[in-house]
Amino acid sequence: MRLRFLGGAKEVGRSCLLLSTDNTSILLDCGIKSAKPTEYPAFEDLPPVDAVIWSHAHIDHIGATPLLFSRGLLSDDFRGVFATPPTLALASILLPDSYTLALRQWRELGMEELYQHDHIARTLSSVKTVNLHEDFKIGDFRIKFYEAGHILGSCIIAVNVEGLNIVYTGNIGAPGRAEHLNPPEAVEGADVLLLESTYGLILQHPSLKEAKRRLISSIMDTIKRGGKVLIPAFSVGRGQKIMRVLRKANLGCKVYYDGMLKDTTWFYWRFTSYLSDALIREVCLTRSNPFIDGIEPINGMRERKKIVSSGKPCVILAPSGMLEGGWSPYYLKELAEDEKNRVILVGHQGEGTVGEKLSKGKRRVELYVPTEKFEWVKTEVEVKCEVEVIEGFSGHGAANDLRLYARSVRPDTIILFHGDPEAIEKL
Ligand SMILES: [Zn+2]
Repeated sequence: MRLRFLGGAKEVGRSCLLLSTDNTSILLDCGIKSAKPTEYPAFEDLPPVDAVIWSHAHIDHIGATPLLFSRGLLSDDFRGVFATPPTLALASILLPDSYTLALRQWRELGMEELYQHDHIARTLSSVKTVNLHEDFKIGDFRIKFYEAGHILGSCIIAVNVEGLNIVYTGNIGAPGRAEHLNPPEAVEGADVLLLESTYGLILQHPSLKEAKRRLISSIMDTIKRGGKVLIPAFSVGRGQKIMRVLRKANLGCKVYYDGMLKDTTWFYWRFTSYLSDALIREVCLTRSNPFIDGIEPINGMRERKKIVSSGKPCVILAPSGMLEGGWSPYYLKELAEDEKNRVILVGHQGEGTVGEKLSKGKRRVELYVPTEKFEWVKTEVEVKCEVEVIEGFSGHGAANDLRLYARSVRPDTIILFHGDPEAIEKL
């Protein structure tokens, strides 16, 4: 058996691992790296691919899969993409969204389109869903999914091939970091553990309790002075975590959510069985939606305009988390002028993104603002409102959590991936 990283080694993004024997070649994840320009896995000298296995629906793990179709990199005996049912559901939202952003970039950089809508459709229609703990076989590989505790439907992939047990974590959460998900499962008997190391540099995340307290207190301060709060959030994972905090907080003002969060959160509700035991118990007791009860969706441009122009304080939760797509750039443009307002950044901000610039104190930024017809208008905005960064909501384990996980698996060999070189070195 041979193992080769096509991406995701000593970097965060474009996760893609090739496992091959003389008879079978499979990819574990096939993602992109959000950068300018976007980076894709190194597909050179790739043997024909017999199957792709997705660990979870984040775009840095699935976003390059349509390229396998557009470039004809699949074997004649291609068996499909294998994923949990919620991962398929979320991918059906995230892949088309990623294509919209890619199209904007290709046009901006004068590049040819690397794939089209048809390749996304072919990717999605090739997906075969497999539940956690169900065994399945692809050629020489026997595979099983385990809970990863990172986002809805995320899984650790256990592979048995030629007598070797390989455990690939994808991205893993940590006990107590996301009350709506079960913690990552220890997979026993691993010879090789491929362990993510995004937060290898950070021994321990700031406490979740403290992060929640700061978030509520900042919102209350803003409301008291008559301002509005914008929280740009990832549509899968971070968004739902923040919703869980806000719906219980009794803020005394309206809380809204917009954009893709409406679709992705519907799937969180649809696939409740993939959420934590504690959350299922809560649903049984309250008979209410554990994410959106008490939070209102924003539907259409008329409602958006009404909310931003109203004098009433409110909280708006909208993707994207880095203000590079979705409706968050629209709200930033509308709220930036008024010093009473506040933007709270709660997630990782990629290099060169609007979110990163704001988090580093830059106050004049270029935004792509969506229109009613889903066109993008490049706009320069001076940000006079307050900007705050609150850490502690991460869906990844920190160094201590990763070490504990590795100890629970007790492998002979550990290979670190999905981390910057410094993070990997430290871990
Ligand atoms: Zn992820």
